[in-house]
Amino acid sequence: MEHKLVIYNTLSRKKEQFIPINPPHVGMYVCGPTVYGDAHLGHARPAITFDILFRYLKYLGYKVRYVRNITDVGHLVNDADEGEDKIEKKARLEQLEPMEVVKYYTDRYHYNMKQLNTLPPSIEPTASGHIIEQIEMVKKIIEHGYAYESDGSLYFDVEKYNKKYHYGKLSGRRIEELMKNTRDLAGQEGKKNQFDFALWKKADPKHIMHWPSPWSEGYPGWHLECSAMGAKYLGEEFDIHGGGMDLLFPHHESEIAQANAATGHDPVKYWMHNNMITINGQKMGKSLNNFITLNEFFSGEHPALDRAYPPMVIRFFILQAHYRSTLDFSTDALKAAEKGMKRLFDALEILDELKPQEKSSFDIKKIESDCYAAMNDDLNTPVAIAHLFELARLIHLVNDGKESLSKTDIQYTQQFVSYFLKEILGLTPEHQKEDDKLIDYLMETILEVRKEAKEKKDYATADKIRQELAKLNIQIKDTKDGARWSFD
Ligand code: ZN
Repeated sequence: MEHKLVIYNTLSRKKEQFIPINPPHVGMYVCGPTVYGDAHLGHARPAITFDILFRYLKYLGYKVRYVRNITDVGHLVNDADEGEDKIEKKARLEQLEPMEVVKYYTDRYHYNMKQLNTLPPSIEPTASGHIIEQIEMVKKIIEHGYAYESDGSLYFDVEKYNKKYHYGKLSGRRIEELMKNTRDLAGQEGKKNQFDFALWKKADPKHIMHWPSPWSEGYPGWHLECSAMGAKYLGEEFDIHGGGMDLLFPHHESEIAQANAATGHDPVKYWMHNNMITINGQKMGKSLNNFITLNEFFSGEHPALDRAYPPMVIRFFILQAHYRSTLDFSTDALKAAEKGMKRLFDALEILDELKPQEKSSFDIKKIESDCYAAMNDDLNTPVAIAHLFELARLIHLVNDGKESLSKTDIQYTQQFVSYFLKEILGLTPEHQKEDDKLIDYLMETILEVRKEAKEKKDYATADKIRQELAKLNIQIKDTKDGARWSFD
């Protein structure tokens, strides 16, 4: 089958055929998390979107180097150049070393990503591990005249840069218009212009994480790490840079500016951005109390959730929308996703038991090529899944004797569906099976404890076990062969 992958490039604002700079090698950089809290739905979407891209590029035969960073220093609370470092703030509140916070949340992030069955990136560099590279990049920017010093801090000169390049070309902003209208520098001491951003910040005495530099004892600006690490591991010009749409401006816009100022050319050929997730139509945010972490989804412990939802349901839910569309979360939508995914895996199981007929009544290769055509069209997973649903419907009809499949076509269908679900979409029922085994074991243990309590006439404990399990929608039935349990 001939594949021609087309992806939407945020920079050109159109779909383009994907042609790597140096085939078969592909360099791909995705902005990773700032590790000061548990990953939530908003972290799952870019991780899954670019996992699909990573898997698909590998399926197409490319040798992909996938770099996803960990931000462990330099990301300030207000996302601009003022305020406390997000990780330091957490460390202060929890009375921990900042690197304890980093280790703790990095481990939890990795575990969540594994639960979602995302493949680990090829390299996962940290900002704090690349201070020297960042300082070197600032030196180049100074050398070319696009940075200025102000009391030990270094700022990027957006106005000067914009005279030669276009600051705003990625996000579609005309910065000169914006500068004319707003000359307000309140609360931004040291900057010549409000759009200027920090390359290096002098640390105030309270700041714990700081390093020596030619300008001051301090720490790098947030946008710098991705420019420095992208260039280090993928080269001064590489193929794909991805991230959430919330990073488009100023983060990615500034990455482009830093690279041009340092090297004289654009750093990235294709920019890709996933859209945001809303919750019941509202933007996610801690203040709205609609901020649900992945661990809360997996355990069901959040007031907005009626029960636990397994990681694969979250993954399927995300894949049912195109990555460039907004995706609205609700428990109804999750339940629909759960049902839909089950329908696909059920069809795969039914295939095992189908009675082969002499001839097939439909063309399985046409359905297969439709699925891949959807993936080639800017990773259109919802359309691919719609074709799989149609196939699942046909498989059920074959089972009912209303359609037919030959022996070879049954085998072909099994191979195709299983490969597409597991390897291309990264959906695996295996996780669930592992979970099921664990649940069975835990329930056996719990029922054993309850049985012993009843034998000792400790009915309070026995009842408490029943009540607590009922909260998890687990019903216990006492039968003459002992207690049985089931999900409600
Ligand atoms: Zn980044």
